[in-house]
Amino acid sequence: MQIRCNHCHKPFALRKEEVFAALEAIQEQNLHHYNAYCPHCRRANRISRTELQHAAPEWKSAKQEDVSSKPA
Ligand SMILES: [Zn+2]
Repeated sequence: MQIRCNHCHKPFALRKEEVFAALEAIQEQNLHHYNAYCPHCRRANRISRTELQHAAPEWKSAKQEDVSSKPA
Protein backbone atom coordinates (compact mmCIF):
# COMPACT_ATOMS: atom_id res chain seq x y z
CA MET A 1 0.00 0.00 0.00
CA GLN A 2 1.13 3.55 -0.64
CA ILE A 3 1.54 5.82 2.35
CA ARG A 4 2.31 9.50 2.41
CA CYS A 5 4.45 10.36 5.38
CA ASN A 6 2.77 12.72 7.82
CA HIS A 7 6.11 14.23 8.78
CA CYS A 8 8.11 14.73 5.56
CA HIS A 9 5.19 14.27 3.12
CA LYS A 10 7.10 11.86 0.92
CA PRO A 11 5.33 8.74 -0.34
CA PHE A 12 6.54 5.28 0.52
CA ALA A 13 5.22 1.76 0.01
CA LEU A 14 4.32 -0.83 2.60
CA ARG A 15 4.79 -4.34 1.21
CA LYS A 16 1.89 -6.77 1.29
CA GLU A 17 3.63 -9.00 3.82
CA GLU A 18 4.17 -5.98 6.06
CA VAL A 19 0.48 -5.14 5.81
CA PHE A 20 -0.35 -8.73 6.79
CA ALA A 21 2.10 -8.64 9.70
CA ALA A 22 0.61 -5.34 10.83
CA LEU A 23 -2.91 -6.77 10.75
CA GLU A 24 -1.77 -9.82 12.74
CA ALA A 25 -0.14 -7.59 15.36
CA ILE A 26 -3.24 -5.41 15.59
CA GLN A 27 -5.45 -8.47 15.98
CA GLU A 28 -3.25 -10.14 18.60
CA GLN A 29 -2.56 -7.07 20.68
CA ASN A 30 -5.95 -5.48 20.15
CA LEU A 31 -4.42 -2.29 18.77
CA HIS A 32 -6.17 0.46 16.85
CA HIS A 33 -3.33 1.35 14.56
CA TYR A 34 0.06 0.24 13.33
CA ASN A 35 3.22 2.34 13.25
CA ALA A 36 4.75 2.33 9.78
CA TYR A 37 8.20 3.86 9.78
CA CYS A 38 9.00 6.25 6.96
CA PRO A 39 12.20 5.25 5.10
CA HIS A 40 12.94 8.91 4.37
CA CYS A 41 12.74 10.49 7.82
CA ARG A 42 12.43 7.32 9.98
CA ARG A 43 9.44 8.63 11.88
CA ALA A 44 6.33 6.60 12.67
CA ASN A 45 3.09 7.03 10.76
CA ARG A 46 -0.07 5.69 12.31
CA ILE A 47 -1.96 3.44 9.92
CA SER A 48 -5.45 2.53 11.06
CA ARG A 49 -6.73 -1.02 11.04
CA THR A 50 -9.37 0.02 8.49
CA GLU A 51 -6.77 1.36 6.07
CA LEU A 52 -4.72 -1.83 6.39
CA GLN A 53 -7.78 -3.98 5.76
CA HIS A 54 -8.59 -1.95 2.64
CA ALA A 55 -5.04 -2.58 1.44
CA ALA A 56 -5.28 -6.32 2.12
CA PRO A 57 -8.96 -7.32 1.81
CA GLU A 58 -7.97 -10.97 1.35
CA TRP A 59 -6.33 -11.06 4.77
CA LYS A 60 -7.98 -13.35 7.27
CA SER A 61 -7.03 -13.60 10.89
CA ALA A 62 -5.53 -16.88 12.03
CA LYS A 63 -8.13 -16.71 14.76
CA GLN A 64 -11.62 -16.79 13.34
CA GLU A 65 -13.44 -15.77 16.51
CA ASP A 66 -15.79 -12.84 16.41
CA VAL A 67 -14.85 -10.59 19.30
CA SER A 68 -18.17 -8.76 19.26
CA SER A 69 -20.07 -11.96 20.10
CA LYS A 70 -18.11 -12.56 23.30
CA PRO A 71 -20.04 -12.13 26.55
CA ALA A 72 -18.83 -9.18 28.58
ZN1 LIG B 1 8.90 10.82 6.41
